[in-house]
Parts: sequence; structure tokens; C-alpha cells
Amino acid sequence: MEDKKWVFSFDEVKLAEDYVGGSWEGVRALLGGKGSGLADMTRADVPVPPGFTVTTEACNAYQADGKFPAGMWEQELNALKIVEQKTGKKFGNTNNPLLVSCRSGAKFSMPGMMDTVLNIGLTDTTADGMVKLTNNPRFVYDSYRRLVEMFGTVVLGIPDEAFEDPLKEYKQKKGYKLDTEMTADDWKAITATFKAVVKKEQGFDFPQDPYIQLELATEAVFKSWNGKRAVDYRRATNIPDDLGTAVNIQTMVFGNMGEDSGTGVAFTRDPSTGERKMFGNYLINAQGEDVVAGIRNAEKIENLSSEMPAVYQQFMNITAKLEEHYTEMQDVEFTIERGKLWMLQTRNGKRTANSAVKIALDMVEEGLIDKKDAVLRVSPEQVDTLLHPQFTNDAMKAANGEGRWYAKGVNASPGAAVGQVYFDANTAESQAKQNKQDVIMVRPFTKPDDVHGMIAAKGVLTSEGGATSHAAVVARQFGIPCVVGASQIKIDLENRLMSVDGQIVKEGEWISVDGTTGEVYTGKILTFTPKIEEQTDLLKLLTWADEICATPGIRKFAPGWPTKGLQVWANADYPKDAQRARSYGAVGIGLCRTEHMFFEKERLPIVQRMILAENLEDRKAALDELLPYQRADFDGLFRAMDGYPVIIRLIDPPLHEFMPDEELLFEEVITMRVKGETKGLEEKEKLLADIRGMHESNPMMGLRGVRLSIYMPQIVEMQVRAIFEAAADCTLSGVVVKPEVMIPLTGTVNELKWIQPRLIKIAHDVMEEKKVSFTYKFGTMIEIPRAAVTAAEIAEYAEFFSFGTNDLTQMTFGYSRDDAERNFLVTYVAEGILPKNPFQTIDRGGVGRLMSMTVKDGRSTRPELEVGICGEHGGDPDSIEFCHLIGNNYVSCSPFRVPIARLAAAHAALKHSGAGLAEDK
Ligand code: ADP
Ligand code: MG
Ligand code: MG
Repeated sequence: MEDKKWVFSFDEVKLAEDYVGGSWEGVRALLGGKGSGLADMTRADVPVPPGFTVTTEACNAYQADGKFPAGMWEQELNALKIVEQKTGKKFGNTNNPLLVSCRSGAKFSMPGMMDTVLNIGLTDTTADGMVKLTNNPRFVYDSYRRLVEMFGTVVLGIPDEAFEDPLKEYKQKKGYKLDTEMTADDWKAITATFKAVVKKEQGFDFPQDPYIQLELATEAVFKSWNGKRAVDYRRATNIPDDLGTAVNIQTMVFGNMGEDSGTGVAFTRDPSTGERKMFGNYLINAQGEDVVAGIRNAEKIENLSSEMPAVYQQFMNITAKLEEHYTEMQDVEFTIERGKLWMLQTRNGKRTANSAVKIALDMVEEGLIDKKDAVLRVSPEQVDTLLHPQFTNDAMKAANGEGRWYAKGVNASPGAAVGQVYFDANTAESQAKQNKQDVIMVRPFTKPDDVHGMIAAKGVLTSEGGATSHAAVVARQFGIPCVVGASQIKIDLENRLMSVDGQIVKEGEWISVDGTTGEVYTGKILTFTPKIEEQTDLLKLLTWADEICATPGIRKFAPGWPTKGLQVWANADYPKDAQRARSYGAVGIGLCRTEHMFFEKERLPIVQRMILAENLEDRKAALDELLPYQRADFDGLFRAMDGYPVIIRLIDPPLHEFMPDEELLFEEVITMRVKGETKGLEEKEKLLADIRGMHESNPMMGLRGVRLSIYMPQIVEMQVRAIFEAAADCTLSGVVVKPEVMIPLTGTVNELKWIQPRLIKIAHDVMEEKKVSFTYKFGTMIEIPRAAVTAAEIAEYAEFFSFGTNDLTQMTFGYSRDDAERNFLVTYVAEGILPKNPFQTIDRGGVGRLMSMTVKDGRSTRPELEVGICGEHGGDPDSIEFCHLIGNNYVSCSPFRVPIARLAAAHAALKHSGAGLAEDK
């Protein structure tokens, strides 16, 4: 153990690479993002103040034993000696003291970790020495008081106010407004006050031994890894707990040494628009985080070009070099000490979705990256936010300026929404529908009986619950902007108002909710909905994504489909949905549900007549009436999807869904009897009896899907005739049709054996009658575990499979989704019993196992078997990746999610080119 290397100087990056076996990822894990960046810049001859990094391994060893690992502190002292040699200064020396900063830095940038402590090494005696050396007592005591305060708050955990209050008082007494008015003596006095604060709060003196300062600061960084804020942040972002943080000890450079010194932060491109233009701020005569803290108004970075032209030029050269090296937009920190530029940090800059797309495209044009890199640079979630309504930048700035920021919760479903607040679903719905108002529905939390209000609302806000709460799940499903768990908000349902710290919003007042960021504002903020047709950059990127997926190449488990990636189809019931799906880039309809068509006003009575028919003749007569409607529906769909496959699912729900509500009808009958009304009573009584006759104790598992088709084949016979008549007519008028008829809820191959030949016969009859022919397929949904298990047999009849993952998940887990999401799923996810909501992201270990088995077995019978997914999971990036791995041919999702799915499909193809599931390799 003694020999283990715990500390790497910034110029030992080669040793670090060797230590981890060569990979830069490994170096980042060992030295953290900040440390590896500093080391990398040092190697590239960028001016970086000398220093060293204590490794994340040392942090982990400290977590395990509660003390520094053997040898670590000695190595830290040795590294400090080297820094002394490089700088010609000495730690703790009175004549020429070395001061250092202590900076935390994990592999991934993590707010919640320890804040930086600057100016370590200052003591009463070194401060004296520095005064002599610099002739600048004001600078020295400004630095010293900063150290005492930072050390006190960050390392010793003293509350900020303990320091801020006496400073405020002092300034008031002196009549100062700004820190710049403070003189050397003022700062000296404040330093003494701050030291007294430490003594009072801790019972011991501010350490006058610089090595103790260093030791305690190092330990504080280690401890902060397990601080509550850091742990919470890791939970929320899925950063593993065992990464640990590194500690960076670095020679101080001073931006507060006078008018020829300064400090700043900058992005190499505009992080909100992506424009290729340095974007940043600096402050003259300031230190560290003064710029970010906004103590004084910072200058635009451009102004540095006139204020310090040489420094500016050097800065531009360095940052250009960094961007080229990392081929990524950089976010840098720098300090100028007496006209000399020092770089203190570089990392890939965070950016908005907009700028992510623009930067990716620009960098391809500039030859920095290729199209594949560009596709990988943008996340599916970013595409999601780009397609939802957004607040305009100007309106947003204005709202912030006017102090209209109200609260922040979890960003559950992206998009911006503006509306009047209503506190229950019924009022929300009626205000939206009858009074045509824009409504934001606000509730502590939502339940399934609130859904009608949510759908009618422009946005949803809750004060409780997290990203998998009912409100969040439903909002995402319907694409409604939603913020959940804004816990600062107190909702008073009785008095119809909500408040944050006494700031009240009453029912009917306007608020603006940003589901992309989780922020809530009072009043209206102007929004715009980006049209996909107008987002030329995004469209270009998605075309590249499609090219990647369409690259010829056989995936391991998709033999009949010679492309590297998935296709993206859409679920669409109506021609207008199909058109939208096309404009969003879908290349097929993976699910057209036909029952919606039965519900339309003029059709429902015919449907009911058909269901209640007492003999075959009456039933057929009613179906004949429905046929032209259905044919027209399909005709529109085929035309919209000219040349692309359209999967039409035969009737699926239980028949009682088409009938009047039993309880309401019963009430009516009772009322009529009581009032002695006889007109129409008998009919109603008969209808009631019929509906009661149809009662099932568990209708979702009862007479529905293929079971209904076998029990009452006339319905699906009519549907198939309508499909093929429409397809034939379209063909005759020059449209290329590819109908695929999907039989739902198959559990045994014998069901297909019974029904499918009858339906195929109708298809043939129609083609003969109309004297045309075109290709078509018959296939089935896989949504019952038994179908999955017997896929090899089912594939003897089915020419395609489509995973109905909602039902497949319900039946595999034995959960009913509504009940699960309402009652226990939130707890299950919170307690880690389930890693995620399986209705949002495919449960790979269970449902997923069934799926991969289904594909493999199905293709053993029928190698060219087409496999897709039409459940909601088809629009979820993680599930899309899984579908890629098991050899699906396509995913089908809501038209709105098609662009997201296209990008996710390309990501999967790039990440796993040619691969299958690990367990299958
Ligand atoms: P964060 O991760 O919060 O950005 P940093 O460690 O980067 O924390 O430091 C906070 C501030 O202190 C930054 O402005 C940084 O540039 C500055 N700083 C850190 N170390 C030094 C140093 N050795 N000399 C001068 N300024 C420093
Ligand atoms: Mg910080
Ligand atoms: Mg920083």
C-alpha cells in the first residue's frame, strides 16, 4: 500500500495515463474532470499555475477507513515541495509565501460538492510577509479575510451569515456601498473580526499552521463526497457513489492585485444560441468567483480586446486550441495577474438544446467532427425540448427582471405553458372547454379521475410527487408541459389559492410554467412553438441519424432486414395523424387503432345496433352500414402513407365499451318507473338487461381482442373487407399500399389458425373483385406472455409481430397499470424495488427477456419475420436501445415522439453496431 500513488502533479499526466492503462476516461475517473483538464492543459503548454491532484482512489480509501490512506499525506507534501521549486515560493514562509487553492473535482461536474477554498497558506505572519513583498496591504488583507471566511464556512461548516452580517454592519457603519471602497485597514479589521467568529463558533483559533489548513481542507473535500447535497445530486443524476472526488491543490494566482489584474469565465461559443463567438465576462481587480457571484457588474469578454489586447489575443489562441483539442465547446476560467494570463479550468460547456444542435452542425462544417459525432452530441431529450412550446428569451429575461419567478419543481414533461390557475379537474376542464380559456391545472398531486382536467389544460403543476408520479406520467404521455413536486408552493384548496412565502396566486390568475426547466412564474410569459419544418438544423441532424440507421449491414438478430439500425414508425389512428407522422419523419404506421372510428357520433348507434342484434341478418345489416365509414378511414390513411407500410389493428376492446353506461341507464329506468313514465320504458329495460347480460367481472381479461373476433367474426370480416377495398381503390388510383392486418391479444396459435384463413380469404376475394393485387401481411400483437413463450408456433401464421408492451408489462408483472401508478409504483421506485416505472421504460430483465426470446424463436420459424413495437415504450430512448439490441426492425411511437425516436435509434446503432444483447453473444 505504501507504494501506491495517491498524488499526481499536473505535469504527470503521462504517469496517470499509464497508471489507468491508457484511456482518457480512466484518467478522468482517477483525477476528476477538473484535475484531468488542468493536467491536460499543462501538457499542452497552456499557462496553468502549478499544482497537483489527490486521486479519487484516495477519496475512496478515506471513505472506507475514515482516515487518509497510508502514504497519501507524505505524497501531498512532496508534491507541494515540487510546486515550491517551480514557483520559487515557499509554503508558510514569511519572506516569499506560497499560497494555494483547494478545489474539489469529481469525474462529472457535481454541484453539491465542496466549494473551493482560496488563499490557503495565509497566516498572520505570512500575511505580514506578503505585505512587504507586494507593498499592497489592501490586496493581502482582502485575500486573508476571504480565506478565513471560506475556510470557516466550507471547511468548518460555520453558516455564511456569521461572516456576512458583521461585514454588512461594518460597511454600514463606514457608509460604504461597495467592497471596492474598503481600504487596507478596513480589510485588516474584518480579518480580525472573522478570526474572532471562528473562535466563537468553533472554540479554537483559525489555524495559524498552513499545513493544518491544507490537511483540513483536503479532508473536507473528501467528506463533501458524502454530504447530503452531493448524495442527492448523485441519486437524481444516476452518478455512481463509488466514483469519489479528487482534490486539486493549485498555486494561487491573483486577479485582485490591481488594475492590471482580473478574473473571468467564458464559453468558446454562445451556450444559448450556439453562435460561434466567445461568450463570457471578466472583472478587473477581482478574485475567483466574484464574476459568477455578480458582486459587481462584469464586463463583456470582447472589451478585454481593447483593455488588454495582448492578453486577449493569447486567450483567444488558447481557447481555440482547447476547442480543437477536445472538439467540443469549452467553458473556461482564467485569471490575469499583473498582465499575465493563467488558465484555471476547462471543461465541455453545458448548453441549451438549440445550441447543442447548432454547435454539432457547425463543428461538422468546420471539419472538427464527423456526422456520427454530431448525431451523438445531441441527446433525444434535447430533441424533445426543441419540439415543445418555449418561452421567448426576451420575455423570460423581462419576467426575471420583474421578479416574477415563483417556484421551482421537477421538470416532469417538457414545454412551456401559460394559463389561468384552476385547482380541480372539473373546473379546469369546464373553463378550458366552455370558456375557451388557457388553463393550468394545479393540484397537490393527481389521480386517474383528474386526467380529463389535465388533458384539457395547457399545463399541469403539482406541489408533491416526483418524476414518476401520476401527474408526471400522464403529462408526458399526452405531451402536456408539467412541473411536479414544487414543494415551496402551499396549496389551499379550500380557499382556492396557492402561496409561496406569502406571495399568493388565486384561482383564475395567470401563471407560466416551464416543464423543460421546472420553473414557475407568475403572470404571462410569451411563448412560441417551434415548427419542425422550420428547424432546418434539427432536420439536417435527423437526416444524418436516418442515414446511420439505414446503412446496409446485418444486425445479429435482424436477418431479414439489412440495415444497421431501427426504422421509426408512428402510431396514428386518423389520416391527419398519419400526415403529421410523415412530416416528423415516420416511415410507416405501426399501429392504427380501429375502435376509435366506432365511437364517432353518427356511427355509435349503428355499432350498438350491431352489438345488440338478435340474429345474424340484423348484425350483418348494421355492419354493412359501417363498412363505407371504415373504408373511407383507411383510404385516407393509405393515401397519407403512400409507399409506406400501414399496420391496422382489428377491433380490440370489450364490446361493453361501446354501450351506454350501465349505472346511468339503471338510474334512468328507476326514475321513469317512480315517475310512472311508460313511454320508452320497456326499450330501456330491455337495453339494461342486455348490457347486464354482457357484464364481465374482469373485462380487460375477458371477451376482447382475437377472442371477440372468434366469438363474433362478422365484425373483423367487415373490417378486413374495408381495409382491402380501400387498399384496392387506392392501388387503382396509383397509390402504393402496403397494408398489414394485425390481430390483437393472441395467446395461442390455434386462435390464428381459426381466424386468419377466413380473413385472408376475404382479402383474396376483394382483390379478385377489384382485379388488382398488392402485397399485404397478416400478423399479431405480442402482448400476452403465452404468445411470447410460444412465438415459434405463432410465427407459423403471423408474418409480423408487434410488441404491445403496455399489456405485456401489465400481464408479465401482474399489475394493472392504473392501479399500480395510482397506488404503489411511486413507492416501489422510491424504495428501489423497481429501478424505473416499467410502463415508461422496458423492464429489460423480465418483460425484456420475454421480448428477446420472442424475436429469436419467431425468427427460427420465419427468418424474415418483421418485428416492431407499438407500445408507448416505442418513444422512450432507453427502450428504443433495447429494441435495437433484440433485433427489432422498427419502433412505432406517437407522431410527436418520432424525431426523438429517430435520434435514439441512431444512438443505439452507433453505440452497438452489429451487436445483440450481451447474454446472446
Ligand atoms: P467550481 O467548481 O465551483 O467552479 P473552482 O475550483 O473552479 O470551483 O473555483 C472557484 C473559483 O476560484 C473559480 O473562479 C476559480 O477560477 C478560482 N480559483 C480556483 N483556484 C484558483 C487559483 N489557484 N488561483 C486563482 N483562482 C482560483
Ligand atoms: Mg463553486
Ligand atoms: Mg470552476
